[in-house]
Parts: sequence; structure tokens; C-alpha cells
Amino acid sequence: MDSQQFKDAATSAIDEIVRYYDTIGDRRVVSNVEPGYLKKILPDGPPEEGEPWADIQKDIETKIIPGLTHWQSPNFMAFFPASSSFPGMLGELYSSAFTAPAFNWICSPAVTELETVVLDWLAKLLHLPDCYLSTSHGGGVIQGSASEAIVTTMVAARDKYLRETTSHLTGMELEDAIAHKRSKMVALGSDQAHSSTQKAAQIAGVRYRSIPASKEDGLSMTGAGLEEVLKQCKVQGLEPFYITTTLGTTATCAVDDFASIASTLAEYAPPDAPGEIWAHVDAAYAGAALVCPEYQHLTASFQHFHSFDMNMHKWLLTNFDASCLFVKKRKDLIDALSIMPSYLRNEFSDSGLVTDYRDWQIPLGRRFRSLKIWFVLRTYGVKGLQEHIRKHVSLGEGFASLVKSRPDLFKILAGPSFALTVFNIVSPGGGEKEENALSREVYELVNSRGEIYITSSVVAGSYVIRVVSANPKAEEKYLRKAFDILVATTEEVRDGKSK
Ligand code: PLP
Repeated sequence: MDSQQFKDAATSAIDEIVRYYDTIGDRRVVSNVEPGYLKKILPDGPPEEGEPWADIQKDIETKIIPGLTHWQSPNFMAFFPASSSFPGMLGELYSSAFTAPAFNWICSPAVTELETVVLDWLAKLLHLPDCYLSTSHGGGVIQGSASEAIVTTMVAARDKYLRETTSHLTGMELEDAIAHKRSKMVALGSDQAHSSTQKAAQIAGVRYRSIPASKEDGLSMTGAGLEEVLKQCKVQGLEPFYITTTLGTTATCAVDDFASIASTLAEYAPPDAPGEIWAHVDAAYAGAALVCPEYQHLTASFQHFHSFDMNMHKWLLTNFDASCLFVKKRKDLIDALSIMPSYLRNEFSDSGLVTDYRDWQIPLGRRFRSLKIWFVLRTYGVKGLQEHIRKHVSLGEGFASLVKSRPDLFKILAGPSFALTVFNIVSPGGGEKEENALSREVYELVNSRGEIYITSSVVAGSYVIRVVSANPKAEEKYLRKAFDILVATTEEVRDGKSK
């Protein structure tokens, strides 16, 4: 493809993408293809001769789009959003045009330097304490996902803990102590924390223990709950070294009690002393709300924590992937993840004057992801992003009011919180078992019809339906439609049951 052919193909592709976005609400939101559908309609191998772009592009509408679930549709109210925007797409376009796996500063100084600048902007925008800024001992780095941020920080925490608690030993004694400690080390998270902490423990080769969230405190983890588990660990000879706290849990958007957790941690293992527990804040989705001053009190205790991560790609209009990890001490990441083979050495790295982000992450190569964040922050501005969040929070409140207006059909179990409403279906005869069965049936029927897409979860024994009003195209009329569908389907299922 030469430059002119690229220009024509790109124009045609952008026209198609704009049409797709303009009509996305008219498509069935969730794909209903059969597993293996694509293999049946694609040839067994690539063509012998190259094909013109026009032929390739035709297959987007006929073969690919039928197999897409339309996350950008206003009828998508499932999981958490993966919001995209046109400025975000332009960032991706330039990023791929400048393709460079910029692992070291010299591999493309702009890739590193823009990342440092925009993540400092973001840290200030989210009201993180100054210790997370690059001008202090901390700094931010873009990861692929919140899960990756947890594995990365857990590995740094593991090595820091081992280094600090065995620093008095040498030789075989040191090796034995490390082997013994590794078998006793335990990562913690609440029973409402995302499964990525358990997975990270599996990858890092350490144990995992969950802390029961407090039902009285809206399923938040508290300092008291943590203390119980720390005591149990002590009795069992286990060594806690890492904890994930959550700002906006996946099931209900609960917020852990950061202040009481910080004081329990300080009591158990004094901060900045050898053997302290690394506390991470997972704000994958709800962290976006920190752009609004009314949520910023939530960061009040973060100077006592070690790392914080939020996904710009969930609720802040930045195309997947852009998970923004901030650490209080960048040295902790670098100590664990820096390896300096001769082929990666260069005068700039040796000078100590530049950042080499390969030492802050698991992979070596990295994409130019800060461009899309830069474009989004500049296009919307602080005010635009605040309006975006507030609109969705207000839509969530409106949806929850509709749900509350039918106590004969629905019961709210959590929220509305950060644009998430969690509820179940009321059984006329009462009883948790019946309600769980009814909620499941309604949920499955709604999704099978494909007019809207929602998710379910099991929370404290109850089968619940989750509706998220944070899609970039969300509007009151779509949430009203979702409510009407839920009412009609609930009545249909309950009538069927009563016959
Ligand atoms: N943490 C929380 C609270 C989440 O809700 C999710 C996913 O929704 C994750 C972590 C995992 O996110 P990722 O896909 O970025 O790894």
C-alpha cells in the first residue's frame, strides 16, 4: 500500500467508523453468533496474492461486525464501560504511525517524557498526594490493565519485603531464609476485591487470603476486618506483605475504609520500617470520579499507601488500553524490575538523568499510550471531564429512582454509586431462594433478547442485576428504555411462574 492508497483507504475506513458510531444504537448490542462462526466463513489460509483494501474493508461489515458486542452502544450497561472517544482514537492512530517499542528513553525521548508529563497532570487532576508525582520520589507509568498494575506492584512489594527482612543475612543463610519466607508470604484483599489480586498472588508464587468485607458498612473492607485476618496470619506463621484496597468494587462499587485500614497497617507494621505491608489502591473504574472535587476527600489517606491505579480506559474517554499506575517510591519498582544486559545499556541510562520505563513494568517494549491521554485531557479539559462524570452519576440516580418507584418488583441492594445500580427481583411469596431464581431468569431473558446488555453478580448470597449508566453515549431515554424492558420482563416471568 503506497501513500496515496493509504490516504484513500484511511478516508474510507474513517467514513465507515463514523457511520458505525452514528448508528451504533440501532444494532443488536450483544453478538449472537455461534462459537466458531468465523472459522466457517474465512479461508483456511492467507491469500497467495495481496488483495485490494476495498475487498478487505467489505468483510468488516459482513464478517466482523456480526461477531462484535457493541461496548460503545448506549444500550450497553454491562460490566464497567470501556469508553472510547474520537480524540482517543486519533491518539491511537498517531501512536501506531510512530510505532516504536520505546523501552528506554533514547528509543524515543518523547514517548517517555510525554508519559511523565501527562501522568503528573493526571495525578494532580485526581487529587493524589504530591508523593505520587515524578517531582517527588514517586511517579506514574501506563500499564495495560489494572490486573497488570497489581502483578507489577506485588512483585515489587515481594522483593522489597524479602530484601528488607533478610538484609542481615548472607550466603546459604540468606538463600534459606528467602526460600522459607517465600513459602509463608501472603497477599491480602477483601472478599469484594477484584479477582486480579488472587491471580497476581498465583503469578508471584505467594499465598492469598481474603478479608470479609463488612455488611454493616456497605461491603467495604475496614481496619477492624483487616486486623482480624492479620491476627490469624500471625497465629498461622504467615507473613502478610501486600494488600489490595478498592475504590469502587466490581460488584457494587463499594469504597474501602482507607483511613481505618491505614491505621491498622501502621499499628501492625510501622510504615517505612522493614517488613511494612505494601498497600495498593485499586480504583480501576471509580477512580475516574476523582476528577470531581466532590469525590476528592476519598484520597485523604493515600499518602499512607504505596500505589494507586485507575483505568483511563474505563470511564475517562480514553480508548483501551490506558491503565495509570502511580507509585510513591519509583525506586521500589526499579529495584525489583531493572535488569541491565549490555545490549540495553546506553549513555543516557547510565547517566541516571532519564527514566527508562522498562524498569517500571513487566514487558520490555511499550506503546506510545500517553498520546491518547494527552489528546483526551486537552480536548475535554478538566471541566469537560467533570461534566462527563457528573452526567453519568446523575443518570444513575435517575435510574435508581425508577427502580425504587416499583418496590413491588425490585429491591435496591447497593447504590446508586458511581453510576452503578445493583438490585434484585422481588418474589411475591418472599424468600431469598425464589428471589435469586427470579433475578437470574429475568437477567438471562433480558440479555438473550439483545435489546440491552447488563451483567449480574452474586453479592452476599443474593443474585443481583447490575446496571451501569456510564457509557459515553448514555442518555436518560436509554435508561428509561432499560427500565421499561426490566419491568416488562419481570412481569412476564412472574406471570409465567404464577400460571
Ligand atoms: N479492579 C476492579 C475494581 C475492576 O472492576 C476490574 C475490572 O472490571 C479490574 C480490577 C480488572 O481490570 P483490568 O481489565 O484492567 O485488569
